[in-house]
Amino acid sequence: MKYQVDERGYYGKFGGAFIPEMLYPNVEELRTNYVSIIESEDFKKEFDDLLRNYVGRPTPLFLAERLSEKYKAKIYLKREDLCHTGAHKINNTIGQILLAKRLGKQKIIAETGAGQHGVATATVCALMGMECIVYMGKLDMERQRPNVERMRILGTKVVPAISGNMTLKDATNEAMRHWINHPTDTHYIIGSVVGPHPYPDMVARFQSVISQEIKNQLTNETGNPFPDYVIACVGGGSNAAGAFYHFLDDEHVNLIGVEAAGKGVDTNESAATTALGKIGILHGSKSLLMQTEDGQVIEPYSISAGLDYPGIGPMHAHLFSTGRVQFLNATDDEAMNAGIELSRLEGIIPAIESAHAVAVLKKLELSDEDIVVVNLSGRGDKDLETYIKWGKY
Ligand SMILES: *Cc1c(COP(=O)(O)O)cnc(C)c1O
Repeated sequence: MKYQVDERGYYGKFGGAFIPEMLYPNVEELRTNYVSIIESEDFKKEFDDLLRNYVGRPTPLFLAERLSEKYKAKIYLKREDLCHTGAHKINNTIGQILLAKRLGKQKIIAETGAGQHGVATATVCALMGMECIVYMGKLDMERQRPNVERMRILGTKVVPAISGNMTLKDATNEAMRHWINHPTDTHYIIGSVVGPHPYPDMVARFQSVISQEIKNQLTNETGNPFPDYVIACVGGGSNAAGAFYHFLDDEHVNLIGVEAAGKGVDTNESAATTALGKIGILHGSKSLLMQTEDGQVIEPYSISAGLDYPGIGPMHAHLFSTGRVQFLNATDDEAMNAGIELSRLEGIIPAIESAHAVAVLKKLELSDEDIVVVNLSGRGDKDLETYIKWGKY
């Protein structure tokens, strides 16, 4: 339990709820209700049923034989790429919309950067017949046109944020402002293990189905629930939190988080928060974030939109500072090469985020006996244009 959130909302010295006074009632309503709702039989039944029949869970745990041969270890891929909408994000949005319904909310808001979380939110709002507004930086809307149209097809209203750099941070501000003005009928769905308490813990619980399934599937395959390594990419950290969750107290399982180094950690074009970040407050919680000497948040960079985030969730900051999780990073080039390699060896084109996790296989000292699980957080369909532009295949 020592890696879980405490009752004040902290993971060691990270976490908490640093929010404007006006948001306090909204967050407090969530905080006092989320555990009892999530743990109720009625919630569990509906959540499990939708994960099975709508999302397509359990996702397979696939023994990647040609990859295993290449890296001289037994490598399994946890196939989150096969989830409905193409990534793990839907596990969380299903959980949050069921929670919102039980709190009597009729409307959903969200913010999105690249649009993946926006699409996962728009999807569950269509499913539940809930009104949905997604805030998105105007610049991001231009860069991510297909996801904007996906959200619109699903019936969501996409509102451009036109302040600041017109990207994710500005969209977050707009969403917060909306929530302050509509506290009683609206739930705000955050897309990763970030934000004020209880969001990081709530999102980690919804994603923890990933490690629960890995344990069951490994037991069936090998008779032992414990792998030697679990590897996952970290943007805000939700797929990694889900893949690590049920192994946190099993210290003999090596947990590896992989951040995006972009063009390299010492190039000023990077998103490797644990390598470059310092303690600070972002999106309502205390964590590690990339900032200048005087505390201005630094624009992160990665070829992969989902890892292009200037911080990590407070749980990961704690896991990093206690040494429970080892953080490595992969550059754009390393990730792209790994994405092509996985395509050629296993017939799976991964999301570029997930390719970062695959890319560290060659940095580990593995032995034939080692059982390695790589969390394949998403599929590469959305990244086709990036693969084409990169061109080396
Ligand atoms: C959004 C996204 C990520 C990064 O988000 P986390 O919260 O760190 O999991 C990783 N992979 C894919 C495919 C994504 O869409």
